[in-house]
Amino acid sequence: MSIATNAEVLKSLKLDAHPRVVIGAAPSDAVAISENPTTGQPIAGVKLDTAESYERTVAQSAEAFKQWRSVPAPARGQVVRAIGDELRKHKDALGALVSLEVGKIRSEGLGEVQETIDIADFAVGLSRQLHGLTMPSERPQHRLMEQWLPLGPIGVITAFNFPNAVWGWNAMLAAVCGDTTVWKPSLLAPLTAIATNAIADRVATEMGHPGVFSLVIGSDPVVGERMIADRRFPLISATGSCRMGKRVGQVVAERFGRCLLELGGNNALIVSASADLDLAAKAVVFGAVGTAGQRCTSTRRLIVHRSIARSFTETLVNAYKTIRLGDPLAEGTLVGPLVNAQAVEQYQHAIASAKDQGGTLLVGGKRASVPGLSGHFVEPAIIRAPASGKLPIASAETFAPILYVFEYDTLDEALAIQNGVDQGLSSAIFTNDLRESGRFLNPDGSGSDCGIANVNAGTSGAEIGGAFGGEKETGGGRESGSDSWKAYMRRQTITVNFGSSFALAQGIRFE
Ligand code: NAD
Repeated sequence: MSIATNAEVLKSLKLDAHPRVVIGAAPSDAVAISENPTTGQPIAGVKLDTAESYERTVAQSAEAFKQWRSVPAPARGQVVRAIGDELRKHKDALGALVSLEVGKIRSEGLGEVQETIDIADFAVGLSRQLHGLTMPSERPQHRLMEQWLPLGPIGVITAFNFPNAVWGWNAMLAAVCGDTTVWKPSLLAPLTAIATNAIADRVATEMGHPGVFSLVIGSDPVVGERMIADRRFPLISATGSCRMGKRVGQVVAERFGRCLLELGGNNALIVSASADLDLAAKAVVFGAVGTAGQRCTSTRRLIVHRSIARSFTETLVNAYKTIRLGDPLAEGTLVGPLVNAQAVEQYQHAIASAKDQGGTLLVGGKRASVPGLSGHFVEPAIIRAPASGKLPIASAETFAPILYVFEYDTLDEALAIQNGVDQGLSSAIFTNDLRESGRFLNPDGSGSDCGIANVNAGTSGAEIGGAFGGEKETGGGRESGSDSWKAYMRRQTITVNFGSSFALAQGIRFE
């Protein structure tokens, strides 16, 4: 793996010649600058959509939908297979672009592209399995069944922190379901979106299907708000903060559209006295500092049994002292920068609030300087909650590497702390006690209230095979594996009378 500089990556992905990309531009109403958070330097400018160009793109997508839905699903799968193959060829460059644009370390940038490749593979298999049910009819010589139909153009809004994979989760499934997608990426990662969409669009167009994958890039007032209010999108799939989701949910509900919301998390990891502490420590450190704490599934709260709390926290503090911050593309770096200056301010504000609220800072907590780099680096921090257990700042999701530590005596107490926040994305328990894990996963629903509940595996790092998403203010959406594809289709219930008598359900007679 060699490419690492802006110029090499842009050239490899043909972004240097892309009509949307302007090298050396100044920011303006028409151009947004994508900045490298590691250096604070611009990578390239991106031309923004206007109301008119938005209109053209959505109209094309709606037109393309009418053709695409008629392509048999397994043949749609072959297009997705070819996209997956093309992504494989560009994995190194796309992964490096993710690192340049949002600061993920190299293996995480590559892992993100791998996730899109994985979901493409998954979608290819799915293209032969979009099956409905048949049910026994209560009427003689009647057949009762369901079929799943394409839904329409799908509006996909993505967050900065997964600038490639979240599109993949949506677009690859939507494509085999017979839907076109219009993608509105975050303005913090537009280059990854341009490169990714260009690959998918080029492959689909070469196979005779232009307009299946489209992109609109612009400010939230000009493009975002227009998109969520647009009746041509029967489904808006939006990933981002709870604040954004509240707005999107209201606007889409107002027009009776459907929403798939993947919003903020505030994920807790419980460590019981019976846990394998070595395993737990590794999961906590990866979960809390990986991606510089900028994953929706990052571990933000550690809930540890009082009998082991001091020694386990000490292990973590020692581990934190060895973490290498630096250039995400350099060998050995474990933690890159935060995405921008505003994220650093939010980190500083959370640290100050935690101290004001009685928290004890155990390690980190300051802006970090990395020689030769003027990016947005911070020291991963651990903060112990006061003895009262009251630390209001820990109820909010701060998108930064801050871990709040709470102590507990009984598992019921631990679950109450874990579930006592507004978000409900990911959760984990480390225990070697069968009863504790059973209580955590209790099928009566009284254990973890999150969409993801892991035992002896951390909160962060989901596989594509399972449905991904969370409850409460995380929005309730499910993406990726399992039967998440159903969100991208509409269900039709069908009754066929193959007899000659007029029969009504519930024994009703009308003669
Ligand atoms: P953000 O809410 O600032 O922006 C997310 C996206 O929403 C961007 O594309 C933004 O332009 C768009 N947006 C904002 N307001 C809009 C509006 N009024 N109309 C239309 N679009 C609008 O989030 P962010 O800072 O990019 O990402 C971090 C957040 O995303 C965190 O809260 C994180 O937990 C969450 N996230 C959740 C998941 C998940 O699967 N649950 C995955 C990744 C990130």
